[in-house]
Amino acid sequence: MHKNFIAGAWVEGVTVGLNLNPSDTNDVIGEYARADAAQAEQAINAAFEGQKRWGQSTAEQRSDALDRIGTEILDRRDELGLLLSREEGKTLPEGVGEVVRAGRVFKFFAGEALRLGGEKLPSIRAGVDVEVTREPEGVVGIITPWNFPIAIPAWKIAPALAFGNAVVFKPADLVPGSAWALSEIIVRAGQLPEGAFNLVMGPGSKVGQTLATSRKVRAITFTGSVQTGRAIGITCMERGAKVQLEMGGKNPLVILNDADLEQAVLVAINGSFFSTGQRCTGSSRLIVEDGIHDAFVAAMAQRMASLKVDHALKAGTDIGPVASQDQLDQDLHYIELGTKEGGRLFAGGELLVRETPGFYLSPALITETQNHMRINQEEVFGPVASVIRAKDYEEAVSMANDTDFGLSSGICTTSLKHATDFKRRSAAGMVMVNVPTAGVDYHAPFGGRKASSHGSREQGTYAREFYTAVKTAYTLA
Ligand code: NAD
Repeated sequence: MHKNFIAGAWVEGVTVGLNLNPSDTNDVIGEYARADAAQAEQAINAAFEGQKRWGQSTAEQRSDALDRIGTEILDRRDELGLLLSREEGKTLPEGVGEVVRAGRVFKFFAGEALRLGGEKLPSIRAGVDVEVTREPEGVVGIITPWNFPIAIPAWKIAPALAFGNAVVFKPADLVPGSAWALSEIIVRAGQLPEGAFNLVMGPGSKVGQTLATSRKVRAITFTGSVQTGRAIGITCMERGAKVQLEMGGKNPLVILNDADLEQAVLVAINGSFFSTGQRCTGSSRLIVEDGIHDAFVAAMAQRMASLKVDHALKAGTDIGPVASQDQLDQDLHYIELGTKEGGRLFAGGELLVRETPGFYLSPALITETQNHMRINQEEVFGPVASVIRAKDYEEAVSMANDTDFGLSSGICTTSLKHATDFKRRSAAGMVMVNVPTAGVDYHAPFGGRKASSHGSREQGTYAREFYTAVKTAYTLA
């Protein structure tokens, strides 16, 4: 039984959840404690007290703690990657890659803890000094989704701790294994003061809701769906808490006539289907210029046919299973909807039977779609991409931006003019030229616009904006 960590101790939950392997639903990964609202409250109270101690630690102590955590994560990359792939369903190389990213994030923020500078400004008044400093916010509530079970927790927990905040971490119900393993490393290798870090696994409606409503939680950072994010955002606004929301995407990848066809296919395959398409930055809309459309679609189908969909831990698997039955139902629903709306299921989209019972779906390509269709306006979050034909570059840009979302976008082109223009005009937080819309560096700012994101950016030096409070002090010497 994997317990929660509250006030410096491992404690039982009120119920128990089973963690199942989506590649083999007979494989039970383990039992995980599930807390209720009262236990979440205990964790918040512990964090409130713990922050007073952790906030007093030196920058070097915090840096060292994060460095030790990062070292252990990197040392155990293979074992943790295996656990991650087993519970989430991404392939083993993807799982190990995500663990490495998590380790590197801790290393990066170990440095950031020491680099948190301030400013001294000249005053408009004689003899007065103006100082701008950054302080911890206090208790930070961290609510994460299932699709990146270790990287997203890492890129929220590391900066929170680096800058002296205490953490109450509530991972996604579906994938508690990686979150628990990460927490165990943080607790042991970090050697943090009691209450500085708390793990509270359990349902969003109870644990997450308690975090969102508690007066002692000064800041909430959330990654997940638009619906849940908006509700949390409103709750936080009402009580004056700081909130950062990273939500869905409907990311366009534009392919122009002058693109390198082979490269464009690789970029689209990676962005649309790797990690089983379960990435907020995945390319779900392929906007293809008329002159290259037919060749691109044919080359995509050919490449898709060679992709191996199988058990996430099997050598040679390109695409693992969908993460859950609910997500599989959603994917199938949207494939059907796309065709009902007038699209053509050009390739894939079939349930597959493998040696072990799991949620296997072949990647789906739906052609002949229009940008206004629901398949192109609503997030599917699976290995499903649709193709929209554009008569020219102008129409492609206009359709790329015609969405409620604005997380990531991409273009495949050999034209400097179009690449430059697209970077300027794309209404997305992240723009990619000849690289997949998904897959970002851990030291660069991450986030989107419109319905995709709310609040300041995550990751890199930009993370300090959310995890610190700015103070301006005036002194007449
Ligand atoms: P979700 O919104 O269902 O759940 C996210 C988290 O919120 C979970 O921990 C859940 O338990 C919790 N939660 C649920 N109800 C809650 C409530 N009432 N109060 C507080 N917390 C609550 O999302 P999901 O299905 O886990 O993840 C998939 C979604 O995440 C997709 O929409 C995807 O685009 C998005 N996502 C976004 C990013 C990004 O950075 N923009 C990254 C990864 C995933």
